[in-house]
Amino acid sequence: MNFFQHPDYKNHEQVVFASDPASGLRAIIAIHNTALGSAVGGCRMYPYANEALALTDALRLSSGMTYKAALANLPFGGGKSVIIGDPRHDKSPALMRAMGRAVNRLGGRYILAEDSGTGPEDMRHAAEETSFVAGVEDNQHGGDPSPMTALGVFLSIKQAVDFVYHTEDLRGLRVAVQGLGHVGYHLAMLLHEAGATLYGADLHQPNLDRAVANFGLVPVSGETILKTECDVLAPCALGGILNGRSIPHIRASIIAGAANNQLGTTEDDLRLMEAGIVYCPDFAINAGGIIEVYHQGLDSSPTTRQQAIEVIPRTLLAILQAGEAKGSGTDAVAIQLAEAQIADHCAVIKPMAMSA
Ligand code: NAD
Repeated sequence: MNFFQHPDYKNHEQVVFASDPASGLRAIIAIHNTALGSAVGGCRMYPYANEALALTDALRLSSGMTYKAALANLPFGGGKSVIIGDPRHDKSPALMRAMGRAVNRLGGRYILAEDSGTGPEDMRHAAEETSFVAGVEDNQHGGDPSPMTALGVFLSIKQAVDFVYHTEDLRGLRVAVQGLGHVGYHLAMLLHEAGATLYGADLHQPNLDRAVANFGLVPVSGETILKTECDVLAPCALGGILNGRSIPHIRASIIAGAANNQLGTTEDDLRLMEAGIVYCPDFAINAGGIIEVYHQGLDSSPTTRQQAIEVIPRTLLAILQAGEAKGSGTDAVAIQLAEAQIADHCAVIKPMAMSA
């Protein structure tokens, strides 16, 4: 593979392949950019069909983390790690400790956190070998940042609805949620409390059933959720779902969900704009979890945490307004905004460092 020509390489600072035969660890740690601080990003464990797919996932997710942290005004860089394997069968305390050692060798350039396939318990095992781990402490949700991610997405949906329909009232708003796991379930709860009408799909039947039972959500098949006639489509499952095949069938005015890397390619940003769909960039609106992790570390008050989350819809509004004014795709606008934020930071830091 010609690594430096990889379409998702995007000038990563460092990419590390880590293995530990004794525990079966095979991991990739991608550090995209540390201009704002140590690269923070979740550790995803997934049975990738091959190593190239694992690498692509790590690269795409880590650059997204750089933009996410910058837009959320966090002093973090962007990174991500992936462990190749099935979390239900291949994960063990020894494997997570080996991951902790791999992270430790990077000397703090990368901070490990949880993601799909890993949780607070795994972080505690890794923390036996390194102090460069977040998400170890229990918060009001037992250490799980997902409810705060859901809150950020919910506030963003309210903002986007106001932008498109000029109302903050969500009663009767039709929202289709793809994926009712950690984030999707909490998002459905907040939308239900606000009076929205919910449609939803999940491949895991118990997750679908509890949302139907608790929120009166109308179940839809996995094949039809993206085609459901609705006001807001909230992807909270997988990446790459917005592409040349799916976009012509989408019947929503707004797309706002937690899933990382929703766009298949950069062209899909333009496809959505041309289809008249207001796309809320995933990395701009799913930062609630990382904001929560940051404030866990500071032991901030609930009020401070709430105020930090409220940055998300304000930033989204700036992105939507700039997209409309420039006639550009919102994903491209959000990346430009994040890159400008990083450049501004470096412009301030470098002269200071030179005069020190
Ligand atoms: P999760 O694994 O708890 O939930 C995902 C749900 O989607 C599962 O219930 C799964 O069965 C379902 N699903 C998978 N494929 C599906 C399909 N094709 N159709 C319908 N349902 C499907 O994950 P999560 O923590 O809720 O995260 C959801 C997404 O949000 C992921 O992309 C994750 O990377 C992203 N994200 C999560 C957080 C967080 O705080 N957890 C933060 C930022 C981004």
